[in-house]
Parts: sequence; C-alpha cells; structure tokens
Amino acid sequence: MAELAIENVTKRFGDTEVLKGVSLTIQDGEFLSLVGPSGCGKSTLLRLIAGLETQTSGSIRLAGQDVQGVRAADRNLSMVFQSYALYPHLSVRDNIAVPLRMRRMTGRQRLPVVGRVMPGARAATRQMAADVTHAAKTLEIDHLLDRKPGQLSGGQRQRVALARAMVRDPAAFLLDEPLSNLDAKLRVQTRVEIAELHRRLGATFVYVTHDQVEAMTMSSRIAVMMGGQILQCAAPDQIYEDPADIQVAEFIGAPK
Ligand code: ADP
Ligand code: MG
Repeated sequence: MAELAIENVTKRFGDTEVLKGVSLTIQDGEFLSLVGPSGCGKSTLLRLIAGLETQTSGSIRLAGQDVQGVRAADRNLSMVFQSYALYPHLSVRDNIAVPLRMRRMTGRQRLPVVGRVMPGARAATRQMAADVTHAAKTLEIDHLLDRKPGQLSGGQRQRVALARAMVRDPAAFLLDEPLSNLDAKLRVQTRVEIAELHRRLGATFVYVTHDQVEAMTMSSRIAVMMGGQILQCAAPDQIYEDPADIQVAEFIGAPK
C-alpha cells in the first residue's frame, strides 16, 4: 500500500495560490527528494503533509487513511526543520525526549488516575530513557547527552534534531532543508549520515532541498517543483537523461 498519497492538492494564502494541484504518491520506505527554487511551495507542501497547515482543496492520505482533521501529533510523522528548533534551556537528553513526554502526557490525560503513581510508570520512564539512548547512539551523540544546544556545533545540533525525530519511531520523516545551515564539508558528511539513517530505519523519507546535487545522490526518486506544481517525478538518472522540459533540465543541470 502506498504510504503517502497526495491528490490534486491546492493551497491558497489570501489571493495567492501557492500550490496549484499537486499530485504525488510516495511509496512505503522510499527516499523522495522534493527539489525546486526558493518560493516554489516545497515547505508549504511538507507542512500540509505534517498537518501544520490545511490544504484548500484535494486530499492527503497516509497508509490509506485521509488525514484531513487528524492533528499533527497524531499523524505518526516527524518533521525536521532547517533551524533545528531545539529548546535552548533543555539538555540534549531532554530535547530528544520531548516527543516521548508529549505522547505520555496526552496518553495520561485519558486515564482517570489521581493521587498515586500509575503502575507501569516506572517501567515507562525506563523505556523512555532507553529509547533516548538508542536514538543518541544511532546518531553518535550519546557522549553529548548532558550538554545544552548552545554548547554544540551546527552539525551536532542537526543530529540532535534527527535523534528527536527518530525517537518515537515514525512511519515517515519530513525533512525541510536540514543541511542548509551547515558548511560545505559538514553538509556532505551529514548527507551520507541521513542516507545511512534511512537505510537503517527503513522509514519513508521526504527530503526537501534546493540543492540538486544533494537530491541526485540521496534519492530513489526526485520530484521537481516549480511555481506550485510538480513538473516531473522520476528516478535521478531518468530526470537527468530525460528531463520533462527545459525548466527541469535547467534546474537539474542536465543537457537538453
Ligand atoms: P519554498 O519552501 O519552496 O521556498 P514556501 O512553501 O515556503 O516555498 O513558499 C511558497 C510561497 O508561499 C512563497 O511565495 C511564500 O511567500 C508563500 N507563503 C508561504 N507561507 C505563507 C503564509 N503563511 N502566508 C502567506 N504566504 C505564504
Ligand atoms: Mg522552504
């Protein structure tokens, strides 16, 4: 079953139609890059999938279910932003644990238990600590768990953001230009690490970038977006060898 099916989605902000009928099917476990020039609507599409915005028309289905009205927190997706969005006053450990704590809090509200420790609460705390450690080890930041974000390099912060995204084992990762704040060398290294993370987790990755080289090297398929529309969606070599039109060819840097 297709993990993520976007059908004829439009999005308006006031009088401006930012997405003009986007259709895209992303398979379970796929690494799909969404590329296109700044302002073409990449972040908007990702935010719609994540549930941070609502589309004007069209449908988004996750694992066969229409997610209209399903809250962002209930979509089983993790979004990673360009700006990392870490809490500066929390340690790395607590930053990574944030999604787990939120899930526990919303779970608890449904239980009418007052004035005593719930049975299993201690086991849940142990499990949470184990999940945080596992995520930190996977991203090789387990030696940094007691630091604050301000004591980390840009690359380390980005790994904390990735660890926080993977800690609750989402069905899909939505990454919005996660490397654009890193210098060139670190960008190449982190790119390899993200590809490795995808292989290891087997989850669906939707990776937004304006860097076509990044997309070419990492993806099973690339969707090229311009002016709120997807012009072509195909495997990297296919896009390079047979671009749909001159705009795609120019953006990818392919001969046409
Ligand atoms: P990209 O991520 O490809 O650079 P965005 O999805 O961020 O593009 O933006 C696409 C267009 O939508 C831009 O013209 C931007 O100014 C506009 N836009 C995005 N968010 C809003 C908003 N909340 N209100 C009004 N316009 C917006
Ligand atoms: Mg953007």
